[in-house]
Amino acid sequence: MTAVFLKPHKEESLKRFHPWVFSGAICRVVLDAGHKGDAPEEGELVAVYSSANEVLGVGHWQVGSIAVRILAFGAEQLPKDFWRERIRAAYQVRQTLGLADVRRDDVRCTKENNTFRLIHGEGDFLPGLIVDVYAGTAVIQAHSVGMHVCRKEIAEAVLAEVPQVQNIYYKSDDTLPFKAPVEGEKTGWLVESQKTASLKDKSRSDEFWSVENGLQFRIDWLKGQKTGFFIDQRENRALVERYAKDKDVLNMFCYTGGFSLYALRGGAKTVDSVDVSQKAIDLVNVNVARNFPEATNHTAVTADAFEYLSAQKAQGRTYDLIILDPPAFAKHRDAVKNALRGYQRINAKAIEMIRRGGILFTFSCSQAVDKEAFRLAVFSAAAQVGRKVRILHQLHQPQDHPINIYHPEGEYLKGLVLYIE
Ligand code: SAH
Repeated sequence: MTAVFLKPHKEESLKRFHPWVFSGAICRVVLDAGHKGDAPEEGELVAVYSSANEVLGVGHWQVGSIAVRILAFGAEQLPKDFWRERIRAAYQVRQTLGLADVRRDDVRCTKENNTFRLIHGEGDFLPGLIVDVYAGTAVIQAHSVGMHVCRKEIAEAVLAEVPQVQNIYYKSDDTLPFKAPVEGEKTGWLVESQKTASLKDKSRSDEFWSVENGLQFRIDWLKGQKTGFFIDQRENRALVERYAKDKDVLNMFCYTGGFSLYALRGGAKTVDSVDVSQKAIDLVNVNVARNFPEATNHTAVTADAFEYLSAQKAQGRTYDLIILDPPAFAKHRDAVKNALRGYQRINAKAIEMIRRGGILFTFSCSQAVDKEAFRLAVFSAAAQVGRKVRILHQLHQPQDHPINIYHPEGEYLKGLVLYIE
């Protein structure tokens, strides 16, 4: 195996189990005998050593500022049954959380929850890998070429360890490094049960309604965003339900209507769902019709958030409860400044439209924007509008998106619930 030797003193963070080796920490690389090129291949397994030849761990080689993502510390090889053990451990956590009580013969809509994140990258000690489970289907997403190379082994391990999974879809078109040379398909079925194979439009089959806290969602894992759904808002959506009674609600950046369904179940007077994606809005309508066939108080609108808020304000429209759950405004560190301006602008627009005694649920899922910076942006928005504002809740990602204590960068979702006078 290729060996990577670090510069003196660069082993400290690895000894504290932080899973990344930065390219600047590397002193030299000794290629495996018989290696073709003059550098490790992207996705190759490499062993990492300190300058004093101590074994630090084994991981996937990457091109870029993170050169190695460690899979196993203190080892030169991946242990036997590595994938099954890691996946079993992650599944046990979800069982502890009460999220994974679905049996193989009962993946339909009879349970409260059949939707959960099984693997959350570094949070489950598998850097670069995401696996979400929707009823009987697992969706695997690789963020590194190393995980792409291992996708079949991962699929086999998921199938063996997670009883309810019958189908495995692989969806890494948008997540693999842009320039990485990869072999094999980046998207497609890795495991498909006979029943699914015979269905024409798989994501539209009744077999595949996903259930979250008793609400049913159609997940379009073939064409939907991310793995098909934003499982990370499950608990925050449940909190909206608590505040929704008799309220006029605006769910901005609604995607497939997650927050809207909870608001409807909570007894909202009206719910407006807004998203710029027509596909998302089509699914909002499908989901509302499925859960609340009689509802006449829901409206779905395809529109840009900033334009919608400006147009509504011009007409004097106001709301009792607004949810703002935008996409990551900062995908990289260098975009943070602009992102903060964006958060301030959108929050100011929302705060302006909230009636006295109303509530704002506001989120940021940008990993590069930390809690304090986000709170400062929302503070600036409140001050700009000049309203009296109290923080009622500080929200974050749910337990099936765990944060590895040695990898604090894994904390990405933050939210504030504000009471606006
Ligand atoms: N709240 C959702 C997830 C939101 S993801 C849930 O609970 O499932 C962010 C959404 O913002 C995506 O659906 C995306 O289509 C939408 N979006 C991105 N830019 C937008 C814009 N300028 N105006 C309105 N919606 C936008």
